[in-house]
Amino acid sequence: MCQTISHFINGEVVQSRGDRTSPVFNPATGEKSGTLGLASTEDVRAAVLAARAAFPGWTNTPPLRRARILNRFLRILEDRIDELAKIITAEHGKVLSDAKGEIQRGMEVVEFATGAPQLLKGEITENVGTRVDSHSLRQPLGVVAGITPFNFPAMVPMWMFPVALACGNTFILKPSERDPSASLIMAKWLIEAGLPPGVFNVVQGDKQAVDGLLTDPDVAAVSFVGSTPIARYIYETAAHHGKRCQALGGAKNHMIVMPDADMDQAVDALIGAAYGSAGERCMAISVAVPIGDTTAQRLIEKLAPKVRDLNIGPGTDPEAEMGPLVTKQHLEKVRGYIDSGVADGAELLVDGRSFKRQGYEKGYFIGGTLFDRVTTDMKIYREEVFGPVLAVVRAKSYDHAADIINQHEFGNGTAIFTRDGDAAREFAHQIQVGMVGINVPIPVPMAFHSFGGWKASLFGDHHMHGPEGVRFYTKLKTITTRWPTGIRAGAEFVMPTMS
Ligand code: NAD
Repeated sequence: MCQTISHFINGEVVQSRGDRTSPVFNPATGEKSGTLGLASTEDVRAAVLAARAAFPGWTNTPPLRRARILNRFLRILEDRIDELAKIITAEHGKVLSDAKGEIQRGMEVVEFATGAPQLLKGEITENVGTRVDSHSLRQPLGVVAGITPFNFPAMVPMWMFPVALACGNTFILKPSERDPSASLIMAKWLIEAGLPPGVFNVVQGDKQAVDGLLTDPDVAAVSFVGSTPIARYIYETAAHHGKRCQALGGAKNHMIVMPDADMDQAVDALIGAAYGSAGERCMAISVAVPIGDTTAQRLIEKLAPKVRDLNIGPGTDPEAEMGPLVTKQHLEKVRGYIDSGVADGAELLVDGRSFKRQGYEKGYFIGGTLFDRVTTDMKIYREEVFGPVLAVVRAKSYDHAADIINQHEFGNGTAIFTRDGDAAREFAHQIQVGMVGINVPIPVPMAFHSFGGWKASLFGDHHMHGPEGVRFYTKLKTITTRWPTGIRAGAEFVMPTMS
């Protein structure tokens, strides 16, 4: 069934005013499943006006009442997780259990945001001067926008909007045009949970919609997650237009395997972290760095057979460990990276290029791929592949491995597998990466901590959700108070001091 996918503005599904559209496909079958209406500048403006009109009412709604609405939304997500997971799998391709996993991680942020009354408590100091008190509080920014990638169509939006709404902002979401339906259903469920119309809006679209949001004078802040070139563009354009911005970019996550690591544990960790979700995760491990040739040999002997044995199939197959890639273009791109690795002289141990799944020949499937003896000058090392391709880069020593990681353009996540506490501590202390795992391959922070990388993996000052999310979606106000006492001191012309 081919459906039309539209915007959600002021509490209603609305069709595009323009006539530009984009097809949506089921990656497992290669069949077109929908037609997406791409927002025009007028559509974006209509969403901004709806969000602007809803702001005074929402921001004056007591935080506890806002939290109760988010609580009801949380219960709806709990009850209908299977329905949402099916929508994600149909457009993204990931296996159903993985789709449910991303929803659960998103729900944790909703749960965090239901603590709004506690999160928004300010600070007070009595007697900053004689009979003078000072208090600080955080107020919402106004209309804020979120622009999200294809790889987590439910979780990444939920990194943003629950915290933004809890803080009293109104929100416009611009999801990925490749898997747009999860956002729409969440918008409907928010209304069902009691959210007033206009507080949460969805505009579907491409660069035109994004540029509309980036340049609209009524949008106060922009959160973005996606690839690094676009993240840089979003950050620069938003800043140019006077907006607060957090723009999370791409990644190349390394995992060091020390000679003393529990090799079975390290191999299991690598298989899940490199090939889960077909490698289309910003926290996927795409580079394994064993220390010394003996460690490399032991790692590869255990790893290669497991890569060959990966169970790859449509996301709806309960046995499948990994689904297809998101689009035909992305499949071609990942195949191209494998070709370049071979041309550059890396040793291709497992080649996924010719993988076909019977009955799904038109799907965008690729097999797990493993390279050994990758060097840091190769394209498959330098660039983000975003597919099920693991590169083994052999390091001579721990220092050599840490140096390799620190020199890389990206700094999203990294991990070390070792039994040596001293090495692990040194790694956590000096590695130039935002999220670090010690014997944990995908160290995604929980909702009450904050998520974000360093270097070209994040542009801006604030990480997402947790305390950093609250700071991003609020601005600080400090109020200094003195009540009349009947004692007149006369005009003061010097800088006020405590005396
Ligand atoms: P993408 O950069 O192509 O798209 C992200 C968003 O930007 C989409 O909504 C898209 O419509 C919009 N966009 C695309 N081109 C644009 C342009 N020229 N101008 C304005 N807007 C544009 O990313 P993607 O392919 O959807 O997602 C995969 C990327 O996201 C990977 O690089 C991955 O590492 C990254 N990612 C990063 C994190 C993180 O936390 N750092 C999390 C998830 C994904």
